[in-house]
Amino acid sequence: MRLRILPASAGAGIIFRRVDLDGFEVEAVSRNVARVSYATSLMKKGVLISTTEHLLSALVGMRIDNAIIELDNLELPILDGSARPFVDLIRRAGVRKQRRPRTYMRILRALEVREGNKFIAVYPADTYSVSYAINFPHPFIGRENFTLELSNGQYVSNIAPARTFGFLHEGEAMRQQGLIRGASRENAIVLTRDSLVNPPLRFEDEFVRHKILDLIGDLALIGRQILGKVVADRAGHAMHTTLVSRLLRDHTFWEATTLPEESADEYVYAGLQNPRFSRQPGS
Ligand SMILES: [Zn+2]
Repeated sequence: MRLRILPASAGAGIIFRRVDLDGFEVEAVSRNVARVSYATSLMKKGVLISTTEHLLSALVGMRIDNAIIELDNLELPILDGSARPFVDLIRRAGVRKQRRPRTYMRILRALEVREGNKFIAVYPADTYSVSYAINFPHPFIGRENFTLELSNGQYVSNIAPARTFGFLHEGEAMRQQGLIRGASRENAIVLTRDSLVNPPLRFEDEFVRHKILDLIGDLALIGRQILGKVVADRAGHAMHTTLVSRLLRDHTFWEATTLPEESADEYVYAGLQNPRFSRQPGS
């Protein structure tokens, strides 16, 4: 399996390219969302890109707007179950500022979605922030809460290392259904009903931090960065992508805007400077 991230021109957005299918391209946007269960997958004209959220999260977390992701396979590598390997590789490659100002989706009024005890919403704000709450009856999880402000560079140290998690018994069931390939203690936090199979945790509240990682990756399918405050409580990929499609369907909730002072801002990056890097998962 081979993955490369290449620079893309300003305004291109994030594009997946299947090099094993004559370079067929699938844009990382909401209209290409195919299937949402344990992970988020994209499909265009029958061509699938599976498990997109961790890499998309790394790109948005590092404020990268434009990139081409080449892969020779339908599934993105899970690596260690977090976004940190992607972040490390992107940092090593470098990031370049592009001249065209970034276009944001500025939230104009609240949009709230509720399904039973699950909740997700977005509210107007001058920056992009994400708050998540989970409440899971497990001795290592329980009630966790975390808020991330994306513009202050905290994503890399506070969110990117947080790994995905799963239960030993569910993992077995999913493997039997062919849903995940090789989920293991190397690429996830593995839990039993009352304990942790592979300590230590990277953060005491690693679980909710990973939910934020996933949410940022799923919201990337809006196709532009948000100026708004996102709040989620016990949501998941399906609720995340519901929020995205509800927003895109109804333009009264938002406007497209640029920030005039942004060109002077040092944390604003777009595109990848170093033309290429590659990684062989498992190497
Ligand atoms: Zn995840």
